[in-house]
Amino acid sequence: MRISSLFFQTKKEVPKEAQIISHQLMFRAGMIQQLASGVYNYLPLALKSLRKLENIIREELDKRGCQEVLMPVVQPAELWKESGRWDYYGPELLRFQDRKGADFCLGPTHEEVVTDMVRKNLKSYRQLPWNLYQVQGKFRDEVRPRFGLMRGREFIMKDGYSFDVDEKAAKQSYDLMYEAYNAIFSRCGLSFRAVDAATGAIGGDMSHEFQVLAESGEDLVLACDSCDYAANEEKARTQTKELRCDATLYNEMEEVSTPDQKAVEDVAAFLKTPVEQFIKSMIFVAGGEPVMVLVRGDREVNESKIQAYLSVDEIALADDKTVEEITGAPTGFAGPVNLKKEIRILADWSITGIANMVCGANKNDAHLVNVNSGKDFELKELGDFIVIEAGEICPQCDGKLQEHRGIEVGQVFYLGTKYSERMNCTFIGDDGKSYPAVMGCYGIGVGRTLQAAIEQNHDDYGIIWPMALAPFEVVVMPLQMNKEVVVETGEKFYKELREAGLEVALDDRNERAGFKFNDSDLVGYPVQVILGARSIENGVAEVKIRKTGEKIEIKLDEVVEWVKNYRDTQING
Ligand code: ATP
Ligand code: MG
Repeated sequence: MRISSLFFQTKKEVPKEAQIISHQLMFRAGMIQQLASGVYNYLPLALKSLRKLENIIREELDKRGCQEVLMPVVQPAELWKESGRWDYYGPELLRFQDRKGADFCLGPTHEEVVTDMVRKNLKSYRQLPWNLYQVQGKFRDEVRPRFGLMRGREFIMKDGYSFDVDEKAAKQSYDLMYEAYNAIFSRCGLSFRAVDAATGAIGGDMSHEFQVLAESGEDLVLACDSCDYAANEEKARTQTKELRCDATLYNEMEEVSTPDQKAVEDVAAFLKTPVEQFIKSMIFVAGGEPVMVLVRGDREVNESKIQAYLSVDEIALADDKTVEEITGAPTGFAGPVNLKKEIRILADWSITGIANMVCGANKNDAHLVNVNSGKDFELKELGDFIVIEAGEICPQCDGKLQEHRGIEVGQVFYLGTKYSERMNCTFIGDDGKSYPAVMGCYGIGVGRTLQAAIEQNHDDYGIIWPMALAPFEVVVMPLQMNKEVVVETGEKFYKELREAGLEVALDDRNERAGFKFNDSDLVGYPVQVILGARSIENGVAEVKIRKTGEKIEIKLDEVVEWVKNYRDTQING
């Protein structure tokens, strides 16, 4: 590519919505342009990198037996009604009607469409397994689109779906995709971790996220400092068990007056009792039903864990009216003893093993002290319902958990028969009976991965592309465009490097050397071949490695071989 005719313009200023460095750099390097909030134009440099990433994905999937398809962005509502997701998916799903008044949506994901496509072809167990994927634009009307391609409304995703005869085969497909994702992100030169994850709106009962570790990441990952355990905070565990209490320590429960003291910290200060002695009682509405969750006063409720435990798609704190109906008191005085209305109570392990606790009395301005489970109320459903923090013990070994920020670039889900049962995607087994296909689904945010690579690889001057994702592997920079020998040597290398199989940009613009240096550093070409009149006279070129800043003088007739070797070692490790 001749940069003189490349459709791009580097920029000094950044728009105010570009809050993180990778977004700023993509904008400044002339790679993306915002059209509307969360909706972007991809300019040639960005698209070149995206295509390279897509091809890495294709190679790793194709060699594992996956097949590429292309499904529509526009999806009929009927399929979403069949799966049950039309009603609950919420405002992220962009819905519209055609001229006849029929309901449609723009696909945020394709479980419904692929299940419908497969059921129309599936007859016998002999046809399976199938693993179908596509690289395609998705639309999600995100509440807060931000960070450029990281959280767009329209974005490119690789989504894949596996169909198997039984759970065992489906788990093998899951493992194969887990392995493929590791290979893909490694080839991209990313530092990442596969972490145990919650399944959220997609559903299913096993999932891993691939998290690129970066300060600006929106996710929090807890990883053990001595074994391979790592999990999203939504799912992270610690070593838990029910602790027993010595019942001889139990005092008689008593009501105390706590006027206007609602928050645990305030009541604790008022009663001069440590917060660890408190039972925090929170009321949620989960899947339409109220539920009370009890955690120790100093701990936070983990809503994702409640959602997963109850197998519901939605959870939110109950409003004041609901709280009053259940407790008979205003919000702030709830507790598990003497509820006005019986509701399900989930208790976290953290409240076990402590005698004489304090909780709300279900009465305005009152709390109960000396509350003991087993005596004053029953612990019917005990489990892990809290947010785990850094420093806690790993659930797999005795190591400590540490916090990292992460960018979720991909996620794999074991779905089971959630969609195939609801949508009747079945096959006849070898025993002549009908079975639902067992499914998995697998997503990679293509744009997000590309931008995550920049988030992890940049310096004060610009992007430092990992070789595998660079829009061009090498830039040739003739410095004095008014000197024939310089221009000719530039042309010669442009030709020879391309003939050697490299992806080459020639900066043939009539610009000052400093301008070209700045642009090349900003765009982040891994190798710069710098051609100045004096060095050419001496029979050498200056080759700069963007990653290290190293500048090496190389004899003119050895440049091509040198660059090619460097490229190969970078790609093949
Ligand atoms: P998030 O939690 O970040 O909203 P998600 O878990 O809802 O993402 P998935 O349904 O798992 O997303 O989608 C698969 C992949 O698509 C994600 O791992 C992510 O890389 C990418 N992705 C999801 N939402 C967006 C978005 N709004 N913009 C860009 N990429 C996205
Ligand atoms: Mg996800």
